[in-house]
Amino acid sequence: MKNRIQDLNIDNLTVIVRSDLNVTIKDGVIVNDNKIVESLQTIQYLVKHNCKIIVMSHFGKVEKETDKKDNSIEIVAKRLSELLDKEIKFCPYTSGNELVKMVNELKEKDILLMENTRYEDVPNKLESNNDPQLAMFWAELGDVFINDAFASSHREHASVVGIPKYIPSALGFCIQKEIDYLYPLIHNPERPFTIIMGGAKIDDKLELIETLIKECDYLMLGGGIANTFLKALNLNVGFSLVNDNVIEKIKKIMIENKDKILLPLDVITTTEYDPSQVNYRLINQVADDEIIYDVGSRTIEKYKTIIDKSSTIFLNGTMGLYENKKFRNGTEELLNILSKSNAKVYVGGGDSVSSVTNLGFKDKLYYLSTGGGATLEYISKDTLPGIEAIGDVK
Ligand code: ADP
Ligand code: MG
Repeated sequence: MKNRIQDLNIDNLTVIVRSDLNVTIKDGVIVNDNKIVESLQTIQYLVKHNCKIIVMSHFGKVEKETDKKDNSIEIVAKRLSELLDKEIKFCPYTSGNELVKMVNELKEKDILLMENTRYEDVPNKLESNNDPQLAMFWAELGDVFINDAFASSHREHASVVGIPKYIPSALGFCIQKEIDYLYPLIHNPERPFTIIMGGAKIDDKLELIETLIKECDYLMLGGGIANTFLKALNLNVGFSLVNDNVIEKIKKIMIENKDKILLPLDVITTTEYDPSQVNYRLINQVADDEIIYDVGSRTIEKYKTIIDKSSTIFLNGTMGLYENKKFRNGTEELLNILSKSNAKVYVGGGDSVSSVTNLGFKDKLYYLSTGGGATLEYISKDTLPGIEAIGDVK
């Protein structure tokens, strides 16, 4: 058993919290503050226990010096302050004497948000490659480390798996909530248990499909990942995204699981030379020059019959290119049906959760995970490096 924050005596200590505050920004505005909201409980708990609090998070990718400006986490300090109704001190440094000085000046209940941990990736990827010296330096800033960054816990970053090597550590409330919700999904889901998978590339999802298909009763596919399955059935998918290298593997999966897998019956296509064209096609009618960008209404009707009898559903990936209005219908229709179903519907994945939020289904589904890659890895492996790195209960 891993330590939980409530298992440690943290009163009056200096505590480092690794949150995932990596929210999407558009035109200088936070598009969705869900991750910030989910991080509040742990921070509030530390305030209540009179801690001096150092909050760390990555924020976008920083690969070169010029990326820093656009990926400063300072914008989050403002939102965090509004949500907590409390001053947040912001430290523009991720190492060095200035950071140490600001930490030393903290008083009980003070909160310091440190600049984007990935500033340390320039030039030597110290954060992303878990540099031990950086991890040790950060660890020395505090007495205790709390990992609350579920959505980053599949990454072996210094701020995730490095720091807890050197000081006592525990899991925060956001991560505990994710585990509490996701655990029954992996271990004893109420049946029938249906998995719905969409998204762009089969390569990203094939390993997960191979693991999860053993656990579920039905696997319904859509989006780009369905194309390679369709092609494996000798159906014409035109110019759609496929990976010919995995066709044999997919044939085997389909033979071994033929009663579980459902594929699109109809699709929406376009062509490269005239993207304004939108065609409805039965699945055996796709022409050589067409690209599949959404599933059709018969597919959704068919999937509804399975949804109606399912007790647990896990959704990852979208049914089509939902960013484009013309190819959004499959995703929207599916979410509409899921929102009315009696099943417990779990959603994991960055685009999946964005589509749910943007299309107005956020409060109508059972559980939205804060993780993307982390959620998928957690579900297939039953643990994550960021969880493993935390100390065990003594
Ligand atoms: P998540 O981020 O939740 O794991 P994915 O990234 O796997 O989800 O899936 C969403 C992405 O898949 C979207 O960017 C969407 O445009 C893309 N997508 C869905 N269907 C298709 C398709 N038929 N062809 C190409 N891309 C697709
Ligand atoms: Mg995605």
